[in-house]
Amino acid sequence: MEPVSQEFVCEKFADFYKSSSTEVPAPSLISQREFAFLLFKNRVMMRHESVSSTAALKRCLGEIVPSDVYHSCAYYENPEAEMEKKGWLGADLVFDIDADHIPTPCNKIHDEFICNKCGFDGKGITLETCPVCGGQKFETKTWPCERCIQSAKEETAKLIDMLEKDFGFSEKEIRVFFSGHRGYHVHVEDEAIRTLDAMARKEIVDYVLGLGLAPFDKDESEKTEKRQKSRGFSLSGFGWNKRIKQGMQNFILNATRDDLRNLGLKSNCGIILQNKEAIAHRCLEENRWDCVKGISTETWTKIAKHIKNLESAKIDTVVTTDIHRLIRMNGTLHGKTGLKKIEFPVADLDVFDPFKEAVAFKEGTAKVSVSSAPEFKLSGKMFGPYKNQTVELPTAAALLLICKGRAEVVKQ
Ligand SMILES: [Zn+2]
Ligand SMILES: [Zn+2]
Repeated sequence: MEPVSQEFVCEKFADFYKSSSTEVPAPSLISQREFAFLLFKNRVMMRHESVSSTAALKRCLGEIVPSDVYHSCAYYENPEAEMEKKGWLGADLVFDIDADHIPTPCNKIHDEFICNKCGFDGKGITLETCPVCGGQKFETKTWPCERCIQSAKEETAKLIDMLEKDFGFSEKEIRVFFSGHRGYHVHVEDEAIRTLDAMARKEIVDYVLGLGLAPFDKDESEKTEKRQKSRGFSLSGFGWNKRIKQGMQNFILNATRDDLRNLGLKSNCGIILQNKEAIAHRCLEENRWDCVKGISTETWTKIAKHIKNLESAKIDTVVTTDIHRLIRMNGTLHGKTGLKKIEFPVADLDVFDPFKEAVAFKEGTAKVSVSSAPEFKLSGKMFGPYKNQTVELPTAAALLLICKGRAEVVKQ
């Protein structure tokens, strides 16, 4: 980013934080949280800050004008002390669902990465290690694409469904946010979870991902004797069992020959296709596994694994298990987009439009020279695609392109 663009972004962020109409909703138990501010200047992170009240926080943001604002999901006796001396009291249970971790059909079009060490580049989800030099640091160019954020939303819906139905949290105890970039955050602040340690949180992560789940894997000993009876896996009632059962029913009832072939099924495709109703209603609903002959345990397992992948929620595991995690603060601007992190009611997840609700700048325009940008929608208006051209855009659209490294400000 050129200095003139950086100055422009910084100016706009200052306008936002200094404006009397900007409301920054403080996190609960504000005085027990650690705060962190990423500064524009030299990208320095100020950590181990503490803030006593909402008013103090607002003042502080107006003075510092950070590029990004975070607070700990943890509560501490002394939030401003160094890590070992903070006195950990507990932490919210937080989940991060980011398009970065979800394979979508379009990420190959708009996301690029390049290895910092050897320059190897590629498109789509960034690799963990470079296949050429083994390096693990990459420069990435992503895009907050509507379709990708929609898939993050679908993962969020699955997670919330599990939190409500399997873990028993009420809608009131679950808070959901658009992250301001390419995904969603889900927070549970209930006292019951506050003191869970990292291991306990890892168990929750495993459950949400369906890790270690094997509804159809049976002991060898059980398999040999009474083979048919050993198939009495009971898919009933509750939790993953119920999710797998319902998922398998939907899948079987709607399956085409290609769907089955894609799972690696060959010889029994015909049997399945001819007995859809019986499989869905008798085998799966009533656990009468032998009423359709010729379907092996292996086949059931393949279908169940496919359903598990569909039903698990693709969360970023590290975020949930880290009991000292810093998380972006609600109501503050995202330095990579100029959009706000914003909370909305769980019940509105379906209809929530981040490209409208998270827009922080609603006035003014700016002239920018765009290197490249795909078509995008902001506040209900379509923009782009652009390629090496100078355009005058509403402030929010200009900021998005500049923050994503796709455009520079043109001084008038
Ligand atoms: Zn490399
Ligand atoms: Zn996309």
